[in-house]
Amino acid sequence: MLVIFTMDKTVSFHTLGCRLNFSETGSIADGFLKRGYRIVEFGKPSDVTFLNTCTVTDGADSSCRNLIRKAHKLSPGGKIVVAGCYAQMESEKIQKMQGVDLILGNSEKYRVFDYLDEDDDNMIKIDQTNEFWGAYTTPGDMGHTRAFLKIQDGCNYVCSFCIIPFARGRSRTISVANATKNARELVNIGYKEIVLTGVNIGEYESQSGERLETLIEELAKIEGLKRLRLSSVEPNTITKSLLKTLKATKIYQDHFHIPLQSGDDGILKSMRRKYTVEQYRQTIELIKNEFPNCGIGADVIVGYPGETEEQFQNTYKLLDELPITHFHVFPFSKRKGTTAAKLDDQITQAEKKRRVSLLNELGDKKLEKFARSFVGSNQNVLFEQKKENYWIGQTPQFLKIKVRDDKLQKNQIAQIKILESQNSALLGAIHL
Ligand code: SF4
Repeated sequence: MLVIFTMDKTVSFHTLGCRLNFSETGSIADGFLKRGYRIVEFGKPSDVTFLNTCTVTDGADSSCRNLIRKAHKLSPGGKIVVAGCYAQMESEKIQKMQGVDLILGNSEKYRVFDYLDEDDDNMIKIDQTNEFWGAYTTPGDMGHTRAFLKIQDGCNYVCSFCIIPFARGRSRTISVANATKNARELVNIGYKEIVLTGVNIGEYESQSGERLETLIEELAKIEGLKRLRLSSVEPNTITKSLLKTLKATKIYQDHFHIPLQSGDDGILKSMRRKYTVEQYRQTIELIKNEFPNCGIGADVIVGYPGETEEQFQNTYKLLDELPITHFHVFPFSKRKGTTAAKLDDQITQAEKKRRVSLLNELGDKKLEKFARSFVGSNQNVLFEQKKENYWIGQTPQFLKIKVRDDKLQKNQIAQIKILESQNSALLGAIHL
């Protein structure tokens, strides 16, 4: 990308939440660059601070408010734009905060440039239109080596605990042709790895009826694309045909992220999830049949209203038994307007904390065991950054690996011999 050094206006970004948010910030950052802005690291004063926010839990909400305060402190004279899911849901609260100039909902954030130039007293721009805003990634200048390609937005499910359908609207997708075009651009600017991203990508079906499998097949044909991943996929949308398509690409990496939420059928039903424990188990089996060495991540919510010790133990036992390697454990968080927020029998914070730490302990043990099982093997690693003399990268299974070798470079893929595992972080050397 051409960067002109006479640029005088600066912009900084901070993103909270999911990979989708990161992909969208990338697209918006690209727009700022094209308009002559220079990107500075968040933490340094800037003319514009763009905060792409999240509202998935109470914790996310309070991180957003802290971030706004921090941004105002850093750039008291600069403009602060608060965009994304928290902006969409809590615009009035944000409006009262010091230093905020513009509040943009999920559709409006892509027009931030127009709004910044406008002379309009109304600082809140929120609309409920369900347009698909094509966004692809963090541009090269922002230092990432993995590109997030947005192919879907919104969700038509109604999980009882989830605010996302309110914040992002109904499901919509980008066509196979447009997604492939965006992917090609990413590869042309140097990306070797693409992660397909959305809220519920298993429900991908473009307006013309095109399927996720077709999109994956098209992406696999792009010369120069070496690694492909899917972000989180709902268990009920994983099919044999999808797995076979992924395997046939030869570039799909050995990692899946399949949200579980609970290992108890009663809780799953109350959550309005679209599968039972048995069906989840079968999904994991299907995946392991096609990708026997893969790592599997799972989101879990503990302390859902009414969750008994026995129901929690059902989750614990299921996670212990299944080959889940990357745990993402969250305490239940009441989201205003959702069905679960109105349920009686809320679990105390202390109890939720206890359940979170029990699962995290189990998760750490399982990840360490999984990581150790690769010691002695050779893995292709994409290197992302250098820290304290070590090059850091990810294996196909999404295991972090450190290699001390000056021959390596950022964005290089190299065959690495895994030498040892230290608390689930691997140590390796270039395989000669
Ligand atoms: S699938 Fe359920 S949890 Fe995921 S975004 Fe949709 S409603 Fe929320």
